[in-house]
Amino acid sequence: MTGGGRGIGAAVAEALAARGAAVTVMGRTKATLDRSAEDLRQRYGVPALAVECDVSDEKAVTDAFATAAAAHGDAYVLVNNAGGGESAAFMDTDRELWDWTLAVNLTGTYLCTSRVLEAMLAAGAGRVVNIASTAALRGYRTMSAYCAAKHGVLGLTRALALETAGRGVTVNAVCPGYTDTDLAQAAVLNIATAKAIPKDQALAILLKSLPQGRLTTSAEVAAAVAWLCAPNSSAVNGIALPVAGGEV
Ligand code: NDP
Repeated sequence: MTGGGRGIGAAVAEALAARGAAVTVMGRTKATLDRSAEDLRQRYGVPALAVECDVSDEKAVTDAFATAAAAHGDAYVLVNNAGGGESAAFMDTDRELWDWTLAVNLTGTYLCTSRVLEAMLAAGAGRVVNIASTAALRGYRTMSAYCAAKHGVLGLTRALALETAGRGVTVNAVCPGYTDTDLAQAAVLNIATAKAIPKDQALAILLKSLPQGRLTTSAEVAAAVAWLCAPNSSAVNGIALPVAGGEV
């Protein structure tokens, strides 16, 4: 899985390890990944490997997936979780921010999926779960690049699900709302900066906009991913599953 060292990715890695999966966690920060893999080995007794990989770098992706396959064999599950976004009004969204946002969220998902799909289809068994966002289902002000990238992830999910249907491989998207990770902290900081208010007030404004009045937890997102990966979820294909407390 990508982005498995912290945030939602770490929670997903834990949920899969708890179900006995051998896990490879990939991301840019080796130290965090090593800690995550060590934690999975200690707590769940599963094989766990940390592999450094920037998902927007095609060669790095090819090398990382070869390393993972050499250690654990062909993947049965791929969770495309690596991602991120920065708040900017459309007129302040320069080419660099646009390209980076699409590269990490959308092209990274394409690259990683293309490295595992052939073996999944050959085995007649596989699960691809893309961590999209409620930003794949609706617009948010000052998040045009991120919304475009996540809508793209959902389009890819739906199209590929039709190609793999009937071949033992499902492709689904999980769409979290604001979740208790560094990414949501950044959103709070943006509100605080834009309104020149303290962070706790900014958090209160954000929470007030959410139907349940609280952030989604990483564990709640991970539970949805684990369900989609279960053998008896085989008829669930091409869906966008919001984990967002009713926001969408
Ligand atoms: P975090 O910022 O906490 O974690 C982001 C993860 O992605 C890290 O593990 C990071 O690892 C990895 N990552 C980022 N860029 C790259 C890259 N170029 N190559 C490889 N790995 C990368 O965010 P979340 O855990 O919250 O986000 C996880 C996913 O969930 C993302 O796709 C995000 O868009 C989505 N999401 C998050 C929501 C939220 O409110 N938190 C809401 C909806 C969706 P490293 O730094 O080591 O590279």
